[in-house]
Amino acid sequence: MSLFSAVEMAPRDPILGLNEQFNADTNPAKVNLGVGVYYDDKGKLPLLQCVQIAEKAMMEAPKPRGYLPMDGVAAYDAAVKTLVFGADSEPVKSGRVATAQGIGGTGGLKIGADFLKKLSPNAKVLISDPSWENHRALFAQAGFTVESYPYYDAAKRGVNFDGMLAALNTAAEGTIVVLHACCHNPTGYDITSTQWDQVIAAVKARKLTAFLDMAYQGFGHGIVEDGAVIGKFVAAGLNFFVSTSFSKSFSLYGERVGALSVLCESKEEAERVLSQMKVVIRTNYSNPQIHGATVVANVLNNPELRALWEKELAEMRVRIKAMRQKLVDGLKAAGVKEDMSFITTQIGMFSYSGLSKDQMVRLRNEFGVYGTDTGRMCVAALNSQNINHVCASIAKV
Ligand code: PLP
Repeated sequence: MSLFSAVEMAPRDPILGLNEQFNADTNPAKVNLGVGVYYDDKGKLPLLQCVQIAEKAMMEAPKPRGYLPMDGVAAYDAAVKTLVFGADSEPVKSGRVATAQGIGGTGGLKIGADFLKKLSPNAKVLISDPSWENHRALFAQAGFTVESYPYYDAAKRGVNFDGMLAALNTAAEGTIVVLHACCHNPTGYDITSTQWDQVIAAVKARKLTAFLDMAYQGFGHGIVEDGAVIGKFVAAGLNFFVSTSFSKSFSLYGERVGALSVLCESKEEAERVLSQMKVVIRTNYSNPQIHGATVVANVLNNPELRALWEKELAEMRVRIKAMRQKLVDGLKAAGVKEDMSFITTQIGMFSYSGLSKDQMVRLRNEFGVYGTDTGRMCVAALNSQNINHVCASIAKV
């Protein structure tokens, strides 16, 4: 009898399981649209030039690798604050933002979740229906009861905004609401600027705690445009949480570069909050890694590299948009009668295609086109070589 004989096999991660099936597929025309990763037009994971230049400079002036402080690389934390809130913004100038480097955006969310569990142990967490599949598990693992607010409206091919707002307006005081700052994953549908105003009014009136997940800043309309929602929360006088991820925007997935920022009432309050975030970090992994955050800091804090990054990020954003249009045109040309133009109203890496589970299974098994059973496809993995096969296959199912 082993210590582990009663251990049950955990359910497979649906997306990683899909990847395994894709890797084992011998169809030469196979296309993986199940992932949440941006590939270039040649189907390759990009290594951004700004990253290569920053890394070359780092190699030429090698530094010893002591432990970082618990909140990470100081220049990186400062760059994150500036990116998220704006260099000349009042919160940055007054020093009332507490920011700590995190292990990817996931790490930023986890620092926030563990801190919130100590701060508001009895609060409920609301996530969108549907949401990034790890939101529920991450907040549940931190000890919260996780429920959802309505978001996707399949019939409308958009957001059930009335349902969302009604849920926020009836949520108990102190409820933690996880909001996708831009490029909603998995649906690709964002709410409008006016709708954000209504969400903010509800957050304020019901005394809710907003937790903005910003995993795709710059992938939607632009760095500033995608970040505008943060300015709205600031203007409303709210205290709130923002997690940041550079996985996609720097194509640095495996370096695990992210952060958590918390907007507090004053500099003194931010110091106390940061001290508690450090306790969470210390007791989980002590302190974060040096490399990825230093690369991002060196790019963001150098005007030339920053301009290069903005250019490279814009290229990714524009290519995704072009692929959305090609998908709509290609589906029409392949004989799909339905109006698929909703794909171009979606934003970010994903498209909720509206295809059923049966259709997604057929796409996979008969044509080697892999998306999730929910109908989510990664538009950022389409390219000029695979688009025709994808359109023809969708037309057939
Ligand atoms: N939040 C959302 C909405 C995401 O889509 C992702 C990644 O796909 C993350 C957070 C996690 O980002 P990271 O890979 O940097 O941990």
